[in-house]
Amino acid sequence: MLSLVLKQSRIIRKMEQTEGIVLRSFDFRETSTLVIFYTRDFGSLKGLAKGARQKQKQFGSSLELYSHDFITFYKSRTSEIHLVGKCEQKNFYAGIREDILKSSFATYWMELIRELIQDKDEPLFEFLLSSLSYLEKEANLPSLILPFFELNLLKLAGYGPVLDHCVNCKKSSENFKFSSELGGIICPDCYNKDPRSIDVLPNTISLMKVLTKTQMENLPRIRVEPKLLGQVKGVIHYYLFHSLGKKPKSLQFIEQMMKSQDKVQSSVGV
Ligand SMILES: [Zn+2]
Repeated sequence: MLSLVLKQSRIIRKMEQTEGIVLRSFDFRETSTLVIFYTRDFGSLKGLAKGARQKQKQFGSSLELYSHDFITFYKSRTSEIHLVGKCEQKNFYAGIREDILKSSFATYWMELIRELIQDKDEPLFEFLLSSLSYLEKEANLPSLILPFFELNLLKLAGYGPVLDHCVNCKKSSENFKFSSELGGIICPDCYNKDPRSIDVLPNTISLMKVLTKTQMENLPRIRVEPKLLGQVKGVIHYYLFHSLGKKPKSLQFIEQMMKSQDKVQSSVGV
């Protein structure tokens, strides 16, 4: 695989330029870096930055996770891996990197984009930029920030759950359940369509609808009780893990970190 990449990288290609955000980067051979970007004009894009670990001046910190860059690359006709010529960093998000909770959230978001999105989608690219900017500048992160991001990313990726009526028969009801299999709420007449559907309270459905219709900046104004927050997170994760086919590794890290923070706080009586 490695020799194939290098062989293909020798074929000269058309130069392209776009903005992108680093979703992942790996060391490649002794001096190079392989990068996955989410770009404004090409969607998910894999690039080889040859000699990047030697050319510190040329690439600087532009290949670090969630760096926002202006990328010049040479498009391959034969390989899905393109040759990165230059990356001019537009935003390093230093304010995220110096805070372990914020950086774990941004890392999780990059994993979700990698898993859910391949195609070009400008609204999604803008959503990602505005989410990173908000995360960087906000001193007190609202408790709904992760459910908000997860739900809106699912929506932008085309997996938005149906929350206005039964996803199967379109009827209204007072007693909906939530079906990951069918992608939304289901009424009592349709419970048998998905035996693994879960209970969901009307308040939870209402809050999920609000989250898909607001902006991240408005989240601090939404008051939410811990029990309701727990159910909203539970329903969104139930659906998200079903869509992904797994639980994201970086979310497991966030959960462990938050648990250990709670332990520290309770041991000092906060
Ligand atoms: Zn129904």
